[in-house]
Amino acid sequence: MKKRYIMSPGPVEVPPSVLSVGGQPMIHHRTPEYRKALNEVTEGLKYIFQTQNDILIFPSAGTGGMESAVINLCSPGDKVLVAACGQFGERWAKIAEAFGIVPVKVFAEWGKEVDYAKVESELKANPELKAVFTTLSETSTGIENDIKKLGGLVKASKAVFVVDAVSGMGAVEFKTDEWSVDVAVVGAQKGLMIPPGVAMVSLSEKAKAAMASSKTPKFYFSYEQALKALKKDKLPDTPYTSSVSLILQLRESIRLIKEEGLENVWGRHAKIASAVRAGVQALGLKLYAQGKPSNSVTSVYTPEGIDGDLLNKKIRDEYGITMAGGQGKMKGKMFRIGHLGYVDRFDAVMGVSAVEMALTEMGVKIELGKGVRAVEEELLKR
Ligand code: PMP
Repeated sequence: MKKRYIMSPGPVEVPPSVLSVGGQPMIHHRTPEYRKALNEVTEGLKYIFQTQNDILIFPSAGTGGMESAVINLCSPGDKVLVAACGQFGERWAKIAEAFGIVPVKVFAEWGKEVDYAKVESELKANPELKAVFTTLSETSTGIENDIKKLGGLVKASKAVFVVDAVSGMGAVEFKTDEWSVDVAVVGAQKGLMIPPGVAMVSLSEKAKAAMASSKTPKFYFSYEQALKALKKDKLPDTPYTSSVSLILQLRESIRLIKEEGLENVWGRHAKIASAVRAGVQALGLKLYAQGKPSNSVTSVYTPEGIDGDLLNKKIRDEYGITMAGGQGKMKGKMFRIGHLGYVDRFDAVMGVSAVEMALTEMGVKIELGKGVRAVEEELLKR
């Protein structure tokens, strides 16, 4: 028997009480019982998003949520700004181009934060920009961007500010309204700790105004239709079949987050992340992040002569722990340890222990226990 663990930056492990909700008998989505649950979820999400704005929920991967923002806020031929620093940020530009929308690409070097000064100068040079797209926690590189700073820059312009908070929400500090985020896009299978298949999007009044003039063809992801269904009655509804079981699971995970308190959830992620960073560095490994490291995932260069994909495969197939490899141009050159959602202190111990043991087995000279010791010392700090 092998016990299995997920230490990837999504999908993440699902708490037992959330799992058990997934096993309950199906209820119909057009019933008062379900619509009451959906109401609790949409209201509960406002706390997690830190917003008073409406939140729309789509049965979809996180990327569907990203696409929905592009097609509902912009029109073909519109100019938008994409402030990226990795694979997921750059995805905004690919989505825009797929719909004939023209991205001004402010792409920072991978491993660094978004280029804030360039964003500021491009906003000044292009007053016609319809939207600015960026990423809270760039999962491919393990970087956290300063959304508050970007929000301050975009606020004064006509552009709507759209943030991919897919792997950051429920893990790192994020304040939709206070930071002037017009649209926050979130996926289910990360900090919200449910299985994949739900995308959530919050919409400010500025976003709704942009939506009114959008001419990009749309049907399933129409915000207009989704808002109509949300508002038509006292209880929310959806235009098409809702992800019933996932929404009921989301209600339970929101309850867990509320019970712990959002600030404590952020604090727990910060503690575990700093322990993981201390552990891998004590082993002589180099962090990939040159800017602010994300508290949801730690990206690490693999040592000279070691293939990061083989390291990952070993840890997954032989030790039963699924971590993540390098993406895009970093494939094979790094590995990523996810510590996101349903994680506790001893996940940090386990993750760093697995890295120590696997690298030792692969012939890297490592003092066994040195990484784990650093993790424990960091965890014991008050
Ligand atoms: N953005 C970020 C920051 C992500 O981490 C991910 C998932 N790794 C996505 C977008 C895409 O989400 P999905 O795979 O659910 O489409």
